[in-house]
Amino acid sequence: MPDTSEVRDRRGEWQPDALPRPSPLFSWPPRLAAALRYLFGREGFLFPYNAIYVGIATLAWLYLTPSMERMETLAFDWIALVYLRNVGLMVLVFGGLHLRLYVKRAQGTRYKYSDKWLATRDKRFLFGNQTLDNAFWSLVSGGIVWTAYESITLWAFANRIIPYVDWRERPVYCALLLLAVLFLREAHFYVTHRLSHWKPLYKAAHYLHHKNVNVGPWSGMSMHPLEHMLYLSGIFLHWIIPSHPLHAMAHIIVSGLAPAKGHAGFYKFVVGSSDTEHEKAIRAGGYFHYLHHRYFTVNFGTEAVPMDKWFGSFHDGSSEAHDAMLERRKRKRNVM
Ligand SMILES: [Zn+2]
Ligand SMILES: [Zn+2]
Repeated sequence: MPDTSEVRDRRGEWQPDALPRPSPLFSWPPRLAAALRYLFGREGFLFPYNAIYVGIATLAWLYLTPSMERMETLAFDWIALVYLRNVGLMVLVFGGLHLRLYVKRAQGTRYKYSDKWLATRDKRFLFGNQTLDNAFWSLVSGGIVWTAYESITLWAFANRIIPYVDWRERPVYCALLLLAVLFLREAHFYVTHRLSHWKPLYKAAHYLHHKNVNVGPWSGMSMHPLEHMLYLSGIFLHWIIPSHPLHAMAHIIVSGLAPAKGHAGFYKFVVGSSDTEHEKAIRAGGYFHYLHHRYFTVNFGTEAVPMDKWFGSFHDGSSEAHDAMLERRKRKRNVM
């Protein structure tokens, strides 16, 4: 098979062979076998990434969260620990990907969507440097909002202010809810992200995330504080839905970590040998959201919960989808 991993168009853009498609989970008529494959198969919805994030959340709940008794009272000391844990997780995941792909450039531009690297002398970014700018917004604004939302929720659980469910009493409900959290999160992302493109909100907040047309891992959580407040607000669903603290933590931890991969800028991560004949690579994805950063008016959500398909903003990177987008823009201009 010819190697297409480095064939680029005039603008230096690389496109994967397999274009994004809406997940089969919501197909009508239902496609049960395809849906199960998508959910549980290799490189599907759960494995490896969502399973890793939920695993990290579980470890964080078991070993890196203060006891419920301690969290009955809001206090600076334990909240500071939660902040350090969250920042530590970000440094590990975002920093780890950035180090491998952008500092060591372990796989060069192989499977990289753009042939450009991140901006180092650009006045639009804080400190004139895209990576420093992105890391600043992620760790300071992102870390603080994440920790504030998580701490107040854990405090509310500790005081039984919000409905608490015990895993030992309702294990099936708890397991299903944990799975549902992953979908709730993506649906919530579509809604808040679509809202962020409403002009006043875009000008006040979301513009900051969109300074990153070419993206790197740290761009994922690089947002204005107002946008962090909106993006991470999904955790408050657990003030209404009877949940265990782990559900709420999984919700916000997946939200806090998943953008690293979603903005990595690479279609695949090469692991092991970089010898193209024998290389092993795992799917990173992110092309769907990469197109959002390029074109702004498409792909507000994800492929798993394909709300863009339902509401007419799905762009899979094909020239047909591109023409349809241009046509929509033209129609909109004529109406205005
Ligand atoms: Zn983004
Ligand atoms: Zn956007």
